[in-house]
Amino acid sequence: MNKEHATGLRVAIVGASLGGLSVANVLHRLGARVEVFEYFPHGFHDRGGALGAVDTDLLHQIRGNTGPTSRRPIRSHGHFYGDLWQYLMDGLPEDTVRFGIDVQEIIEPTSETPRIDSAGEQRSFDLVIGADGGKSTIRHYVTNEVPQYSGYNLWRGLVPVDGIPGPPSGTRTINGVRYETLGFPFVTGRGITMWNCGIYMMTPESEVAPPTRNRQVTSSKTDELPDWFIPVVRALFGNRNAAFWEACAAHGKVSAHGVWEFAADVVVNNRIVLLGDAAHMASPRTGAGAYTAMVDAVTLAIALQQHDTIGQALRFYNDDTVERGLLLWKRSRRAATYFAPKTSPVVSPAELAISPSERLPFPTINQEGAS
Ligand SMILES: Cc1cc2nc3c(=O)[nH]c(=O)nc-3n(C[C@H](O)[C@H](O)[C@H](O)COP(=O)(O)OP(=O)(O)OC[C@H]3O[C@@H](n4cnc5c(N)ncnc54)[C@H](O)[C@@H]3O)c2cc1C
Repeated sequence: MNKEHATGLRVAIVGASLGGLSVANVLHRLGARVEVFEYFPHGFHDRGGALGAVDTDLLHQIRGNTGPTSRRPIRSHGHFYGDLWQYLMDGLPEDTVRFGIDVQEIIEPTSETPRIDSAGEQRSFDLVIGADGGKSTIRHYVTNEVPQYSGYNLWRGLVPVDGIPGPPSGTRTINGVRYETLGFPFVTGRGITMWNCGIYMMTPESEVAPPTRNRQVTSSKTDELPDWFIPVVRALFGNRNAAFWEACAAHGKVSAHGVWEFAADVVVNNRIVLLGDAAHMASPRTGAGAYTAMVDAVTLAIALQQHDTIGQALRFYNDDTVERGLLLWKRSRRAATYFAPKTSPVVSPAELAISPSERLPFPTINQEGAS
């Protein structure tokens, strides 16, 4: 297969987040006829938090903006999700993405032309790409493996910087478990400068949400900050941190993102392909989930260009993506060795709220660098 062969390839992409739009961009430029189906009814240009780490060179390569003058300025650190999303969206012809379509089924999934039912109309494709995130509905057509809970939550706070000092950072270790907070500023698409801050907290699985539709724009318990939260933050990191998170709750948003991990053993079955979080999920601590989805997209495009047949190309993509997914998963597991070590019983953060001076864990606190 080469660029000429890819021309006219009918590709359905399920999911219009960073992974889906990345692969839509690269395949569109190869000449494929790309259609993207997205569950949410509208785009994400003004939604989401910030990603701390993004390979901007790779992003420009995906958009085909390789000359310095054609590049839209993308910040080197602290990237608003909505801004990245819009940048990728701008690289596609109008009407490439169809919003409000929940793809629940692939018809004749083992054929060379699997079909998708969109709004009552069945359509055939040469390739169906599941870029539908951690809660993927396409995944089970390819593998029986499912994401596993890591043992900890990431709480994210977003708030306009105006008049709010921070975000403070800090690390505490209690009975061998690390609790960590850190953050950075970023600019939203509307030009508002916001703080983006996170706290990694060991949490029992019963208290976290299962994988969500879109890790950046959905999260659990957004409007229900538990009573224990601010007291625990104060006990862990001090008054300045507690004041910062109170400000997030009052003037911004606090949300909990359960950390789920996954590395698929296989990412291709005939003409069905997994990409991004559908294929591999890692802790935000790795700073590489979206990055890996973008590498998947470029790898698939290169595979299609360099191989004689679509089957060979997909075998190459499978082997490369499975290997990279495993490496990512291993990095994620390393983070879990300190945020939720197997040697420590899983403690609910709510337990930490009860009278610090009287509770057992607190006298054994080892303070490593709270500020
Ligand atoms: C707090 C936080 C910080 C992070 N920071 C970073 C970072 O700094 N750097 C980094 O590289 N990564 C980071 N990540 C990880 C990154 O957000 C994810 O890896 C990335 O969003 C995955 O993109 P995706 O396109 O594969 O899946 P998702 O973003 O999950 O998108 C999947 C899309 O598919 C759609 N969909 C799902 N099911 C269906 C269906 N049945 N039909 C149609 N559409 C469907 C969803 O609505 C969604 O839009 C972070 C994650 C979190 C939570």
